[in-house]
Amino acid sequence: MKAMLLEAPGRPFTFKNVPDPVPGPGEAVAKVLACGAGLTVHHARAGRLKLDYPRILGHEITAEIVETGASVTNVRKGDGVTAYFYLSCGECRWCRLDRETLCDNFGGYVGREVDGGYAEYIKLPARSFVRIPEGLDWRKHPAEAGVVCDAIATPLKVTRKARLAPTDTVAVFGAGGGLGIHMVQVARWAHARKVIAVDVMASKLEACVTAGADATVDASSGRVTEQLMALTGGRGIDVAIDFVSSQATLEAAITALGKGGRLVTLGGHGGTFSANPGEMLRKEVELLGSRYASREEVAESLELVARGALWPVVTEKVPLAEAEAVHERLDKGAVTGRAALCVAK
Ligand SMILES: [Zn+2]
Repeated sequence: MKAMLLEAPGRPFTFKNVPDPVPGPGEAVAKVLACGAGLTVHHARAGRLKLDYPRILGHEITAEIVETGASVTNVRKGDGVTAYFYLSCGECRWCRLDRETLCDNFGGYVGREVDGGYAEYIKLPARSFVRIPEGLDWRKHPAEAGVVCDAIATPLKVTRKARLAPTDTVAVFGAGGGLGIHMVQVARWAHARKVIAVDVMASKLEACVTAGADATVDASSGRVTEQLMALTGGRGIDVAIDFVSSQATLEAAITALGKGGRLVTLGGHGGTFSANPGEMLRKEVELLGSRYASREEVAESLELVARGALWPVVTEKVPLAEAEAVHERLDKGAVTGRAALCVAK
């Protein structure tokens, strides 16, 4: 099969023929129709994450099961599937609690510890495949169906972590990116009172308004906290969701929280930040981390898209052979919403 290989950290991809994958017991092989290209994948491409090389990246797939190994019962030939990004065990306490991203026997990620979707075929443990429900035409919309498993599932979980209520004013930091724009959409779907998009590019902020943002904050001009306070009449925001999670964005977000405010961080690059415990006490502020989504939240996200409650924002669809160009644009922060690679029809 043809595959886009990453052969060394930070190197360009090489487009090569590699052996077709063959499913062992408990595994299945699927033909890839499309695969999302987001920042999580780009961090691996850029050499910021540890990988074994060569590696085929990509986890936001739409694919069709073509072959199953022995004792596979959850999928069969012809099924339209996407992937659950985390290689969790399914048996430990956290997995049983539907909190699989905290799995005690965590095996890594699709497209990092095992080969992913930047190829014509993908082989995974069968339980890593999630069936796409009836009602979502995955053959017609493979790029959109593929990105749901992360770009919508991750924001869906955040609404629960933050206990997002219809009385809440929400600010999304990094709102124009692949997760951010879907967070805007999901917060709007969850009936947030007001959704404020924070980003640094005017064109991205426009896309956020189209996705459902009520107001925008251009962070490139600085004074983010002041702008957020002005937009809330001095009350402060109820929920801040930070997809950038740099020291600057986290501190701006915390300072802008009102009484009872919740901050959700999705990680960032590992720097530290300051929070004033006196202010945390005075306002009963909560600082929360949220990591990807559960398998059930992936299934729920697919169901929401299947019944038309949400629709993914995929702004760039390019052939697999042009993966390198897409990653150059991701590197510059030039992609609004999600990009996807179209692998097959
Ligand atoms: Zn587990």
